Amino acid sequence: MSEKRLRQAIDTLKESGVRITPQRHAVLEYLLNSMVHPTADEIYKALEGKFPNMSVATVYNNLRVLREVGLVRELTYGDSSSRFDCNTSDHYHIICNECGKIVDFHYPSLDEVESLAEQVTGFDVSHHRLEVYGTCEDCQKVATQKH
Ligand SMILES: [Zn+2]
Ligand SMILES: [Zn+2]
Repeated sequence: MSEKRLRQAIDTLKESGVRITPQRHAVLEYLLNSMVHPTADEIYKALEGKFPNMSVATVYNNLRVLREVGLVRELTYGDSSSRFDCNTSDHYHIICNECGKIVDFHYPSLDEVESLAEQVTGFDVSHHRLEVYGTCEDCQKVATQKH
């Protein structure tokens, strides 16, 4: 992980007048290090050893603050387990059918889709989301071991 990204993120918080508590710092650092788009629960479990007094609600509250200043994106999938992404540049996701992990990949942004959708439907398009599904390398290994 680049220390630079963490420093930049902390600068953004300072500029937005957000107080940087040790927990908030830890949540941010964990997200920047994580490549799998963790849920609030996973973040809580990873940090509870370090902050025994922290609750899941605190994690949610910190994620909300980070989202409000634009450092974190929330990915909702129609269930209760939102996942959090601190890569706020344009990118796409591939999702594992087995373990639910979400990995970033880059592909030229499909701007034509947005303009076509706008023309065809008359909508004022805000953004789009593209997801590719499959089985991740870890889960493929587990599947081979079972045979
Ligand atoms: Zn998997
Ligand atoms: Zn992502």
